[in-house]
Parts: sequence; C-alpha cells; structure tokens
Amino acid sequence: MLKRITCACALLLAAGIGAAQEQVVNLYSARHYATDEALYNNFTKATGIRIQRVDSDDAGILARLKAEGAASPADVVLLVDGARLYRGEADGLFQPIRSKLLEDAIPPNLRSLPAEDGGISWFGFSLRARVVVYDKLKVKREDVDTYEELAAPKNKGRLCIRSGSHPYNLSLFGAVTEHLGEQKTEAWLRGMVENMARAPKGGDTDQIKAVASGECAIAVTNSYYLARMMRSANAEERAMAERVGVVFPNQASWGTHVNIAGGAVAKYARNRASAIKLLEYLATPEAQNYFANGNNEWPTAKGVQISNPALKAMTGGSFKSETIPIAKVGMNQPRVQQMLDRVGFK
Ligand code: FE
Repeated sequence: MLKRITCACALLLAAGIGAAQEQVVNLYSARHYATDEALYNNFTKATGIRIQRVDSDDAGILARLKAEGAASPADVVLLVDGARLYRGEADGLFQPIRSKLLEDAIPPNLRSLPAEDGGISWFGFSLRARVVVYDKLKVKREDVDTYEELAAPKNKGRLCIRSGSHPYNLSLFGAVTEHLGEQKTEAWLRGMVENMARAPKGGDTDQIKAVASGECAIAVTNSYYLARMMRSANAEERAMAERVGVVFPNQASWGTHVNIAGGAVAKYARNRASAIKLLEYLATPEAQNYFANGNNEWPTAKGVQISNPALKAMTGGSFKSETIPIAKVGMNQPRVQQMLDRVGFK
C-alpha cells in the first residue's frame, strides 16, 4: 500500500518537474511581420525557450492586460508606439527590470525614465520617423522642411493628415509641445487645421496616395509606409511613391520626430527570467536586423547598422533625429488632446 502511494507521488513529481522544465514565454504582440517569425524561431533555437504569442493591436493589448489583471498569462508585451508604452507603464501594467545588457544597448531617450530603484519599464527596439511628403510639381522642398511650416499661410489648402487623435499624431504633437511649449504648439495646431485640404481621414498610406493623386500637396506619414510603397511588388504603388518628395523635417533645429516600437515585461509575468532574456535578445545585432527591417525601420541598439535600400534612398544615409525622451512625449498626451479639442483638430 505504502509502496503504491510512493510510486504515484513519484510520477506526479516527475510530471511536475517536466512541466516546470519546459520553458515558455507568453508574448502579447502588436507587431505582425513575417520576419518576426524567423526572429522568434532563432530565439527558441538559441535558448530552448518556446514563445507562445497572442496578436492584437496596441489598444487591444492594453485593454486585455487590464481586464486580465493578476491572472494575465502575459510575460512580454510588444507595442508599436512610445506613448502607448508610456500609458502601459502609467497604468501599472508593466514591471520595471534591471538589465545591464539592455541599459548599455538602448539609448536613455528611447526607453522609460528609471523608477526609484533604477528599474526600466520599457525599451524601444526599432525606430520610425514622422516625415513630410509633398507633391514635387506644386511644392518647393524648402517650404515644408520644418514641422512649423505645415501651419504657415503659404501652405493653405494643401495639407492632408490622419486624425489628430491617432497615437502617431498624438506623439508628434506631444514632441512638438516639448520643443516649442504649449502656447506655440496650440497656435501651430490651429494653423494646420486652417491649412487642411480635407478633413482628416484614413491612415498614413492614404495620405501618401492623396498626394500622389493630386488631392493634397503635403502630407504627414511614418517613414515605413513610404518605404513599403517604394519596395512594393505592385508597380502602381511604386509609381505613386516616386511621384512624391520626402522631407525629414527640422534638420536645422531640433531634428525629426521619431517614435519607437518597443517591449516590456508584464506586471504579473510568471516567466520573468525568460521574459528578460527575450527582451535582451531583441537588442542583439541579429535580432535588431530582423526587427527593424521587418517593418522598414531603423535599429535602436547602439552601433547596429542595417542596409535597407528604401531607407537609404529616403535619407541619403542618415538624418538628425530629436533627442528628447520618448517618455516625455507620452506624458504630454493628455494636454495635446485638450489642445486638439480647443482648435477643432478632428
Ligand atoms: Fe503603423
């Protein structure tokens, strides 16, 4: 009798150990690119840690983490907007971590501000610029080489831009607030509303297409949407990309506004060590290549270079980006939303 019980216990114990030994990391990701699959497979090969992924968008992931609370299985969270990462941090959905490897690799302006104990809540792993495209036949490049000029009277009736409340614009406007102060930023937003060729609608790609078709003369877009069109298999899309000029604004002042896609360890992560390993892996040169190139972005890790023909064609090699902390951009968003309401920027 006693012997049988011992055997059963041993079996249960063995099963328990087996389950504990199979290492898994649960990933909630707002990125869905084919190259990310290769990235995750390489991580599993290198570490033996299997990745279980849930795909959604930024808002969906933040809502899900909130709803799941302490029962959430999430270990790592990947989002595609710095202000959304800031929001996740402010809502207590992440846990700050210490990692010398990550702190050495990712510049301080592209990660969260440190907690009291020095812990970092999120890190940027790829970088995109918010650029201006223009109709080369109607607009002179020097009339759109700063964000400020988007609101200038000379550009009246020319501007197309997606909704002001979209995270990419909230982040741009939050950055401008940091550079110019609230008063000048509100006047700038009002000037842009006055310059619009049409009420905001559609995504960034729609704005590029509207310039290519002549509906507007100037538009604002994330750099990777233009790069995607430049590298498209569709000849019509490539032709549209060729019809527009691109400017990385404010090269002579504070630099072009940049945003990040980045990652964090979830507040209730059960596989914390594996979660940190995955974030550290994303900062390696190999992973940075997949991560950045997968969406025609730039790597964030120091010293990592990629060769992407569309990015090279756009910038001529490099560009000056702003250096304010992306965390500050996130902090400014509630003020930006109030300014948008006051000036009637839909
Ligand atoms: Fe996007």
